[in-house]
Amino acid sequence: MRSDECSVLALSPLLYHGDAENACPGCGRSQWLVGRLTAQCACCDTALPLAHGWRWTDQKTRR
Ligand SMILES: [Zn+2]
Repeated sequence: MRSDECSVLALSPLLYHGDAENACPGCGRSQWLVGRLTAQCACCDTALPLAHGWRWTDQKTRR
């Protein structure tokens, strides 16, 4: 991850909520590619961290 991406995430209080409409802070659209840790805007590649606990889920499924 580039350092400028880190600063963008640190400055942004935004999180991706799976049960809500999430307007992209970069382009205002709501088209997301949802991964395991982040959701990435399909239009401008802005990434938001997921609001719910995927890390916690990962630990439960790992042995
Ligand atoms: Zn966007």
